[in-house]
Amino acid sequence: MTVAQHMLAQNWDDIRLKLYSKTSQQVRAALASPRPTWEDFLALISPAGEPYLETLALKAKKITRQRFGNTVSLFVPLYLSNLCANECTYCGFTMSNRIKRTKLDKQAVANEVAAIKAMGFDSVLLVTGEHETKAGMAYFREILPAITPHFSFVAMEVQPLDTCDYRALKQLGVNSVLVYQETYHPQRYGHYHLRGNKQDFSYRLDTPDRLGKAGMKKIGLGALLGLSDWRTDSAFTALHSERIQNTYWQSRVSVSFPRIRPCSGGGIDAVSAITDKQLVQLICAYRVFLPDAELSLSTRESPWFRDNVVPLAITTMSAASQTQPGGYSEPSAALAQFSTEDTRSVTEVTQAITQSGLEVVWRDWLPGFGCEV
Ligand code: SF4
Repeated sequence: MTVAQHMLAQNWDDIRLKLYSKTSQQVRAALASPRPTWEDFLALISPAGEPYLETLALKAKKITRQRFGNTVSLFVPLYLSNLCANECTYCGFTMSNRIKRTKLDKQAVANEVAAIKAMGFDSVLLVTGEHETKAGMAYFREILPAITPHFSFVAMEVQPLDTCDYRALKQLGVNSVLVYQETYHPQRYGHYHLRGNKQDFSYRLDTPDRLGKAGMKKIGLGALLGLSDWRTDSAFTALHSERIQNTYWQSRVSVSFPRIRPCSGGGIDAVSAITDKQLVQLICAYRVFLPDAELSLSTRESPWFRDNVVPLAITTMSAASQTQPGGYSEPSAALAQFSTEDTRSVTEVTQAITQSGLEVVWRDWLPGFGCEV
């Protein structure tokens, strides 16, 4: 049975019921456990776990410092395209949204790379909308040689691909791929994804397996918090992450915590809004459950939130992000995928990190050291 098949066999309502029935006693047992299980994770993110946030945060901080030292890595997103052949009701790039569509050519990519390198970044996340014909493997083969030699770590957030394509991306110098399930609730997933290949819930769910089989160094998972009950979606994400990590042990798992944000075209309201305090609870619970996982926080969150949460459990964060193609060399907010909250410069973010007693890591991966091919 693949990990995706195991996930498909899980029952949303059963897990939700289990999660919301956790007691204070079970939370205390989870906090005391030297090796918390997934059941413990459910207790830690449950309503019963909310009064124990301080104890949980202290435990998470201790584990983070033990595993990762006093460091946090910085990366920056580079949007290659805003073309998309999907209709997702919560996203500014959705197919029916009348925005100017663009795809960076080689010269535009070179301009963006130069602007990003001048900011000091050595780790980049390449983002496209999901458009198989216009921004698919042919485009990636053309554009990646102009990008990967300039960075020590290259991640991608693009449409789900087949295993052979992931192998090809790896050979082109890609180290990591992130594909978020958005929500693990099949019916609600259908409610938000109205047209395009993204409607295929199972193919998307199987993506981390294909990445593992391709030997991708890092595999990114996540749910868009607010699309469905955030606790149950997080229970699924955590289980999925644990299974992927255990099955494809030569890869590393990364988890992100995007909350629904406004976008051009309006976007949608969260059906299950997660408060700042609950998001801290969730992030710290992940650290306790998955001590070695990379936990990543984007500029969707405010400076205040990021400055306070990063020292507890975050290992990777973006800074000075532009969420539109060409945004670093030719800023134009009209094309943005979603609005960012932390609009500080790289210098301001690094100063805040240093003031919290952490060291900024620009490069934690040497090309040629390990198994790129
Ligand atoms: S979420 Fe992704 S697939 Fe959906 S519209 Fe936005 S860019 Fe396209």
